[in-house]
Amino acid sequence: MSARIILIGPPGAGKGTQAARLAERLQIPAVSTGSIFRTNVTEETPLGVEAKRYMDAGEYVPDEVTNKMVRERLQQDDALNGFLLDGYPRTTAQVTALDEILAETGDSLDHVVELEADTDEVVARLLTRAQIEARADDSEEIIRHRLDVYVEQTAPLTKLYAERGLLRTVDGLGAVDEVSSRVLAAIGQDQKA
Ligand code: AMP
Repeated sequence: MSARIILIGPPGAGKGTQAARLAERLQIPAVSTGSIFRTNVTEETPLGVEAKRYMDAGEYVPDEVTNKMVRERLQQDDALNGFLLDGYPRTTAQVTALDEILAETGDSLDHVVELEADTDEVVARLLTRAQIEARADDSEEIIRHRLDVYVEQTAPLTKLYAERGLLRTVDGLGAVDEVSSRVLAAIGQDQKA
């Protein structure tokens, strides 16, 4: 099906896991800016070299860099009929850039799904993940900073999308399957269909 969906929520809310499941279910590509950046860091591309210093500090990569990368990704064939954005947009400037990208093709967003999660819970989850994945941006200090940046720069976007009538807020706590069911219900997809 064709759907254009944004998944928004604090780091550690389970966006990546839910994005992969939902994308598979809807047969649309999951586009995760965090994972595209991480691939570029691993491959030591110029984009990766630039992004790394921000990522390691728990800061956002500058909007122009991120917007350009997303524009290029959304112009690829597999995204022309729909996509699930995980971790983008994160700033009001990114919202504007996405609006422009969509306007060029006459497309529009269908849903913005907000995964809600308690701060202590996400810190605990991220600390566990830090031990498993050894991510450089997962020390407790950096984690707390990433959450502050989220609250300051990204949380306000939910209000903006609510005003557009696109926001579907889902409780991100609980078993992965349960959360997936809530997400599907929130976007009007029958769980068993
Ligand atoms: P994530 O895996 O989504 O938590 O992203 C990991 C890191 O990549 C973030 O902490 C940022 O440094 C960077 N990043 C990912 N998406 C964005 C974005 N939309 N804007 C700016 N920086 C981003």
